[in-house]
Amino acid sequence: MVEQSRRNVLRGGLVVTAAGLAVPITGAGPAAAAVYYDPRRRAFAVEAGSSLGEAYRRLYLGWGVTVPAGWCPTVGAGGHVLGGGFGPLSRMMGLAVDHLYAVEVVVVDGRGRARSVIATRERTDPNRDLWWAHTGGGGGSFGIVTRYWFRTPGARGDDPSRLLPAPPPTMLSFTITWDWRDFTQDAFARLVRNHGRWVERNSSPGSPAARLYSEIQLNRRPIGQLGMIGQVAAPPGTAQRLLDEHLAAINEGVPATPSRQVKTQPWLAAALAGSPGDPGPAYRLKVKSGYLRRRLTDRQIDVLHHHLTRSDYDHPGGTLSLYTFGGKVNTAAPDATAAPHRDTIMKLFFVNGWEDPKDDAKHITWLRELYRDLFADTGGVPAPGDGAFINYPDNDLADPAWNHGAPWHTLYFRDNYPRLQQIKAKYDPRNVFHHALSVRAER
Ligand SMILES: Cc1cc2nc3c(=O)[nH]c(=O)nc-3n(C[C@H](O)[C@H](O)[C@H](O)COP(=O)(O)OP(=O)(O)OC[C@H]3O[C@@H](n4cnc5c(N)ncnc54)[C@H](O)[C@@H]3O)c2cc1C
Repeated sequence: MVEQSRRNVLRGGLVVTAAGLAVPITGAGPAAAAVYYDPRRRAFAVEAGSSLGEAYRRLYLGWGVTVPAGWCPTVGAGGHVLGGGFGPLSRMMGLAVDHLYAVEVVVVDGRGRARSVIATRERTDPNRDLWWAHTGGGGGSFGIVTRYWFRTPGARGDDPSRLLPAPPPTMLSFTITWDWRDFTQDAFARLVRNHGRWVERNSSPGSPAARLYSEIQLNRRPIGQLGMIGQVAAPPGTAQRLLDEHLAAINEGVPATPSRQVKTQPWLAAALAGSPGDPGPAYRLKVKSGYLRRRLTDRQIDVLHHHLTRSDYDHPGGTLSLYTFGGKVNTAAPDATAAPHRDTIMKLFFVNGWEDPKDDAKHITWLRELYRDLFADTGGVPAPGDGAFINYPDNDLADPAWNHGAPWHTLYFRDNYPRLQQIKAKYDPRNVFHHALSVRAER
């Protein structure tokens, strides 16, 4: 049952939000019980089987709050939170795990017996290290999470509506497109350099531009367009100004006029609409990732242009997206949570999608070669101080054929890996939970 909050009003089967959005409260399906306020822990419980969309809906309609997690509402809380979890509000509010208070995990002891442990971030909790491992240590390494509890550190009192951040009443969502035909190599380089400069100047904690989140999509030329999608968490006038400034900076001196679609919606409608970049379920996908502390170099931009325009690979797919990052995320210490990337300003999402399994090798090779050449100066993978994102898992990072640089665990966990290994040895001594990129107990 949705509880009435101070912000949102229940009317005849609908919740009318403070922003005027009417949302039905029926038909939520079996996940309806999976998100609730737990007064005993003064925290919001989100069962691991909940989707992000269901969590957003319940938290907002019930109490006017949210967790700054991923943009796609269909993603499961189960694996998402474990990898850190970020989304359009993270530059303002931090990662999802920055608000994680506790986890309930089924672990298996040395005799093979399963038991359920609740681990909290309380300093006095003997299982605190198990909580910490779940703040970015990745899924499938320590046990099976059955429940998360969220409460922002330092939040006081018993009023649930003050225990997590409130999202903005409205969100401006945008889709920008450029015609690839307008781009020479120089124009492409200018666009990517401009973008990098903007990110370098606008990603410090507390920057007014932290309200803006964008993903510039550097697509292969056969797709026909370059794009940028994003959201701005600000009142409509301010949001429009922030977007105008962002776009003007990126497009400065570029001989191409972008077209734009802009929509202002109540926050919940925007959150449930999700990302227009979601590739959908029909595709076979390969993804890779990286973080950057500085913008791409001119050499890297040339490499990128080459792979996006190669004429020996004529596939209308293949994208490197550059996500804005940093802001509030960078206010946490690298060891405060297991998610260590607290000084980066950009997240890189490499993706290729296709339909026929027979074509796997060809399309995966294109993506691998782009990645290898982009990071040629650091062994074909990001620099150890930059790293990669465990929620876009990439087995190639653990494959000596493709990684001649930093070990996979340094890229994902930096200096937090030894501590994750100790926790692994303590809570999963039989290595029951394992996969190609799971934490290993041995040193
Ligand atoms: C369309 C799409 C959009 C995305 N957008 C974002 C985004 O905006 N921001 C972002 O940060 N990430 C995003 N991601 C990445 C996403 O966070 C990861 O794919 C995440 O692992 C998804 O969790 P899941 O439970 O759905 O995945 P699964 O594939 O089920 O699990 C991923 C890993 O976690 C483990 N795992 C899952 N559930 C549990 C559990 N209960 N206990 C222990 N281990 C578990 C699995 O064993 C596996 O190793 C997106 C992914 C997709 C497909």
